[in-house]
Amino acid sequence: MAEPVIAAEPSAGVEALARLVAGRGVVVLSGAGLSTESGIPDYRGETGSRRRGSPMTYQEFTGSEAARRRYWARSHAGWRTIDRAEPNAGHRAVERLRRSGHVSAVITQNVDGLHRAAGTRDAVELHGGLDRVVCLTCRQLSSRAELDRRLTELNGEFADPGAHRQADGDAVLPDAAVEGFRVAPCARCGGVLKPDVVFFGESVPKPRVERCFDLVAAGQVLLVLGSSLTVMSGLRFVRRAARDGTPVAIVNQGPTRGDELATTRLGLPLGPALSELADLVGDRPWR
Ligand SMILES: [Zn+2]
Repeated sequence: MAEPVIAAEPSAGVEALARLVAGRGVVVLSGAGLSTESGIPDYRGETGSRRRGSPMTYQEFTGSEAARRRYWARSHAGWRTIDRAEPNAGHRAVERLRRSGHVSAVITQNVDGLHRAAGTRDAVELHGGLDRVVCLTCRQLSSRAELDRRLTELNGEFADPGAHRQADGDAVLPDAAVEGFRVAPCARCGGVLKPDVVFFGESVPKPRVERCFDLVAAGQVLLVLGSSLTVMSGLRFVRRAARDGTPVAIVNQGPTRGDELATTRLGLPLGPALSELADLVGDRPWR
């Protein structure tokens, strides 16, 4: 593997990236760092505040009514942040790159729906999306907006938790607020509702993983944006690309677990860097 290009000067780095990605059928793999400029904290990143406590696991959520009450109370408070967030320059640049044919596919580890909001409708949401809810009994999918109306009816609207917001729409709340919280059951069957996101301790559905491996295999470059690749669910695509000899470019502020596999490595703020990249490679359809 070649020595990674680590640019001392931002524009030189973006120019090197432009030469790598122009017209190449790039597969984007994005993470929480791409959404920080939309006001959603990246709790694993260097710039984000540290997460308070560990995230709830699938086993805790499904195993205890008290855990589910805690989850939904905190999530009800944190939902405002996610619901009001707007795509930033980084999401918009990715969409420009997709429309002009440089990017062939977008895979995101984010559950905030911001790629879709930027127009990238077919972005694969590896870990699901917070804007949907699934019933664990009858499997019916419903919208989070509808559940939010029901939770607000039952509990009122929670105050914005400010600094204690978390990247996955979770928020830190006082115990008393959690204890009095009323959870809404599935409107169809009365079953347990879970956000349609992959929890820690839960696997990404196999067909979704296979689809992502196929996209990575078909791409000519894998471009990682704003992910420290801490969890295997994203890192495995970087490993596969590197094994197949597909160049891997990483733009992330701070080190990542994929750094030694990268051919190009840039530590730049994503919004400005991706806007410059989209300008350099051009908006004309690339054929
Ligand atoms: Zn149900």
